[in-house]
Amino acid sequence: MTDCIFCKIANNKMKSNTIYEDEKVKVFLDLNPSTNGHMLIIPKKHYQDIKDIDSEIILHSIALIKVTLFPLLKEKLHCDGLTISQNNEYGQEIKHFHIHVIPRYTNDDNVHTYNKEILLPIDDVYSKLTNK
Ligand code: AMP
Ligand code: ZN
Repeated sequence: MTDCIFCKIANNKMKSNTIYEDEKVKVFLDLNPSTNGHMLIIPKKHYQDIKDIDSEIILHSIALIKVTLFPLLKEKLHCDGLTISQNNEYGQEIKHFHIHVIPRYTNDDNVHTYNKEILLPIDDVYSKLTNK
């Protein structure tokens, strides 16, 4: 898509701090990182989100994290853990599918702080999801 900034990054029309690339995906540093080494994995082809992406790209990306990116982050940045996240629709700023690869450090403050006041009891959520 011509007006998509991640398509521009994928096609080398816009600069990025590229860490890895192959024929399917590109991995680069997030410009506004949650922690040191926060990366994004994008498919080179434009998909909006998890609804339309080819599942094979997801499998390829998760294997890439397991085999290459997490070991790299451990070796070079000495991270203590890894959080993987991916936003769709609400919460998704850039409408080109991407996976956040966020190294974690014992002194970081990258905790999920979802609004506790709007949480339903677990049993209510379970019954909505399963009709039980
Ligand atoms: P999301 O909210 O899941 O759509 O995340 C979009 C992410 O893209 C944010 O973490 C931004 O910091 C990051 N971002 C936006 N533009 C760029 C860019 N040109 N290069 C690298 N990261 C970017
Ligand atoms: Zn795109």
